[in-house]
Amino acid sequence: MIQRQGYHYRLKTTPALRRSFAQYAGACRFVWNKVLAVNEGRYLAGVPRLNYYQAAWLLTQWRHSEEYGWLAAVSIHALQHCLRDLERAYTTLWAGRTAPPRFRKKFLSDSFRFPTDFQRDGDRLKLPKIGWMRFWQSREIEGTMKNVTIRRDGKHWTVAFQTEREVEPPVHPSTSAVGIDLGIATFAAVSDGTLYPPLHAYRRLQTKLAKAQQRMSRKVKFSKNWQKCQTVIRRIHATIARCRKDFLHKLSTTISKNHAVIVVEDLQIRNMSRSAKGTVEEPGHNVAQKAGLNKAILDQGWGMFRQMLAYKQVWSGGIVLAVNPRYTSQTCPQCGGVSSKNRLQQALFSCIACGYTSHADVNAAQNILALGQRER
Ligand SMILES: [Zn+2]
Repeated sequence: MIQRQGYHYRLKTTPALRRSFAQYAGACRFVWNKVLAVNEGRYLAGVPRLNYYQAAWLLTQWRHSEEYGWLAAVSIHALQHCLRDLERAYTTLWAGRTAPPRFRKKFLSDSFRFPTDFQRDGDRLKLPKIGWMRFWQSREIEGTMKNVTIRRDGKHWTVAFQTEREVEPPVHPSTSAVGIDLGIATFAAVSDGTLYPPLHAYRRLQTKLAKAQQRMSRKVKFSKNWQKCQTVIRRIHATIARCRKDFLHKLSTTISKNHAVIVVEDLQIRNMSRSAKGTVEEPGHNVAQKAGLNKAILDQGWGMFRQMLAYKQVWSGGIVLAVNPRYTSQTCPQCGGVSSKNRLQQALFSCIACGYTSHADVNAAQNILALGQRER
């Protein structure tokens, strides 16, 4: 079995390196956004989008043109890789797994990737046209390097190595199976009764972010003070992303270590996002309420959590099953009765037919587990 793993380290930078990184990130952002804009134009005109090869051909034209000749200063491989990422974004979009690719913003999504034309020697890394640099190697890298990504993380730059290695198919040390209900009030309720509250630090940061955004709105655009505010906002965004990732990693590791079978809801977050707005013929109900709910869903990174669980289970030899979550919050495990009146209060499940009561989220998690066991 092939195990893929990413290793992330902080880079030791110099002003010259930071200038190079900004140049590379800028060129990749430019290419990404330009091809995306061309494709949106083609979409509106009813013409099929550019595929990877057409976009790569266009890129070569740009590199030889007077207007965009500056693109020739950065490695062609990094730019081509960026087009490949865009191509993949379209493919997963068709598969219904992700939202459409978006325009990249400066600082927020600054990154670039090299396929194979880099060298690594201990804690030293050499990138084409940039040269040697060092990184804080906190742990050993195992496996064969597949690619390397440089990314801006707040005021730092980080390096991520993607590796692959052949491993024996693992056997999960545990035999237990659990269902998980993901929610707003409780981030994750496990069918064995464990409740994981949402990340509160994250809410605090969000308040801080709102305040900083308000402060920025009062400044003169592009003034010194406005730029200072923008730096603060970027840092808060980076902290939020780091906190969320850290929280989700810890939680998914704990659950994955302890249970061989994990049953989750097939959330179809995208469909939920769509249904809030409704269609022209059938406008959505409670649009504002659902928009708030969707924001919270995306905030808490349910999708990211599910992905983490899935790959950690692959590593540990367990599995993740996804079931249709319909009625899981309204079904009574004792008598099998289904009613929307079974859950009149947020935290309490109370069956109107037989009087059975339990914690609403744990009850949902138990129903999810039961569905998973039936499907297996
Ligand atoms: Zn009942």
